[in-house]
Amino acid sequence: MPPTSSPPTVTVWNEYRHERDSDAVAEVYPDGIHTAIADGLAAHGFETRTATLDDPAHGLSLDVLAETDVLTWWGHRAHDEVRDDVVERVCDRVREGMGLVVLHSGHYSKPFKRLMGTSCALKWREAGERERLWVVEPGHPIAAGLDELFVVPRAEMYGERFDVPAPDELVFCSWFEGGEVFRSGCCYTRGKGRVFYFRPGHETYPIYYQDEIRRVLANAVEWARPRGGPTPRFERSDPVEDVDLG
Ligand code: ZN
Repeated sequence: MPPTSSPPTVTVWNEYRHERDSDAVAEVYPDGIHTAIADGLAAHGFETRTATLDDPAHGLSLDVLAETDVLTWWGHRAHDEVRDDVVERVCDRVREGMGLVVLHSGHYSKPFKRLMGTSCALKWREAGERERLWVVEPGHPIAAGLDELFVVPRAEMYGERFDVPAPDELVFCSWFEGGEVFRSGCCYTRGKGRVFYFRPGHETYPIYYQDEIRRVLANAVEWARPRGGPTPRFERSDPVEDVDLG
C-alpha cells in the first residue's frame, strides 16, 4: 500500500469467544483477534471499527453496515449463533457493493456459505505445522509487496478438497508440512461486491501479528472496497434499438 485515494472504512468483525474463555488464546490475543487485525490495518493507514458477536445485533446494525466499505469476518465455534436476519443484511450489502474479507475458520460462517452456495467444508488438523504460502498470481493487487513465497511458522492445517466454487482469481496456494495443499487466497464477485477468502489465522498462533499477513489483509481490504458503477435492474426491458415488438 498505502491506499491511493481516501481509505475505505473497515469494520473488523470477530466472534470473540475463544479469547475470553481460554487462557492459552488470551495469551496470544489479549484484546481479541479483532484488535490485532484492526491494529494491523491501522498501521497500513485504514480507518477501522470493530464489532463482535455479543454486541447488540452482533455490532452489525443497518447503520454500521451502511457506513462500512469492507467487512472482515473471523468466527469459529459460534457460527450458528449469528442471527439469520443479520446474515441476510450482510449478504445484501455485499451484493450492493460492500467488500467482504473472510478469514480462516470463517469458511464455515453463514454469510460465506450463503454467498458461495456450497458447503465450504475442508480437511483440517491442528499440529502446529509449517505452512508455505505461494503467490500463484504475482501481479494481483492482493499480492503487492510480497515475495513469491512466505512462511507461517506454526499453523493449523487446512487441506483440499475445499468445497467452494472455483474462485474468479486464486492468489495464494498453501503447502503444509504434513503434505497437504490448499487454495488459500480466493477472490469472488457477488453482485457488485467483492469477496476474498484468506486461510491463515488460527486462534492459538500469533498469525495476525505477522508482517506478511498484515500486508495481505491491507491489500485485500483495498482490493475489496466498493467500485461503484451502475446498479443492474432485473426487469422487463424496452429495446434501446428499433425493433418490432408486434
Ligand atoms: Zn483454526
